[in-house]
Amino acid sequence: MSSSNKHKSYKPDWVPKNAGAEFAVKVVKGVDKEKVKHETKKFSKRRNLDIQDYVNGVLENDRTILARTITLIESNSSSHNEIAQKVLKKLLPNTGKSLRIGITGFPGAGKSSFIETFGLFLINLGYKVAVLAIDPSSTITKGSILGDKTRMEKLSREKNSFIRPSPSSGTLGGVARKTRETMLVCEAAGYDVILVETVGVGQSETTVRSMVDFFLLIMISGAGDELQGIKKGVIELADSILINKADGDNKAKAMLAKSEFSMALHYLHPATMGWKTQADVCSALKGEGIKEFWNTVQKFKDITIGNGIFSERRNSQNISWMLSMIEEKLLADFYNNKIIKSELDKVTERVLKGNLLPTEASELLLKLFN
Ligand code: GDP
Repeated sequence: MSSSNKHKSYKPDWVPKNAGAEFAVKVVKGVDKEKVKHETKKFSKRRNLDIQDYVNGVLENDRTILARTITLIESNSSSHNEIAQKVLKKLLPNTGKSLRIGITGFPGAGKSSFIETFGLFLINLGYKVAVLAIDPSSTITKGSILGDKTRMEKLSREKNSFIRPSPSSGTLGGVARKTRETMLVCEAAGYDVILVETVGVGQSETTVRSMVDFFLLIMISGAGDELQGIKKGVIELADSILINKADGDNKAKAMLAKSEFSMALHYLHPATMGWKTQADVCSALKGEGIKEFWNTVQKFKDITIGNGIFSERRNSQNISWMLSMIEEKLLADFYNNKIIKSELDKVTERVLKGNLLPTEASELLLKLFN
């Protein structure tokens, strides 16, 4: 077809001879590929960013770029990680100014309800709040706490809040590294309070404790005796215990639980030197006890900054972070090593058959690795 009749109606070969205008076909001018390319680049949110774009975007608290930076951190690709590390390095001078609060408790204790109420309370005071999570179960189930944002619906709608679910792949150590780095990025973006949530069912509390300034344990009254054993270890990590759901008929029971916890705390090691961990009650639903909790946190901050524990803790957290990254890297190198990959099963088999002692086996494999 010549360019002169490009826009004219014409009838293709397959149109019946006596057919009417309903078979007419109008040829529309095609799109200008170059122009589309240009416009797409101009308007696409997924345009390629360089290191400085990421850094500027985070510093300006551009939420899209903030989220993309965190995606880089969480990525398992080494090229993404390389960019993430360069971005982090540039952001480092702008980190460290927030207050980091860890929050744990059994599923159903009311952590997300508490975070929603407390987060909104802080935003009303003029603070910016970021909520992160460490959920070891998410690495297995691929689900994650905070995955469902409707759990903190009002908070997630606030422009001064930023909610990020737990990274859903990797070992607890890997997830911890990603969360620490995400925390730094949020600090650089100007968030004043970072809340790190975790489920109170195992190793993850210790991990969260090792990255925050203040650690809160949320409990409910009437948790069965079978939980007491687990609780003791977790209680010793806490700077504050809140018995949640102290409302309605439950209030009296919550007060009783508070005095039981206070008794128990009497005999336990405090989590932070120079600070006496106390139990209190609150109602995330009614917003009661929230202001008092914030006063406790402020008091804690004043005391620990005053006696040097605050910065001492952050320093030692940095060192243990470094050490845990070395351990993580060494382990990954070991299991990804070609020789180990081919020998591990054979050596395991020999141990299982009783032909080799576990000590000999580990020495053998480490020698092969080295
Ligand atoms: P999480 O699993 O620890 O995050 O717990 P959720 O925040 O999802 O709360 C579990 C259930 O307890 C939900 O049905 C909440 O509505 C309820 N809940 C949370 N906080 C309170 C509270 O202060 N009072 C009462 N009565 N119910 C609460």
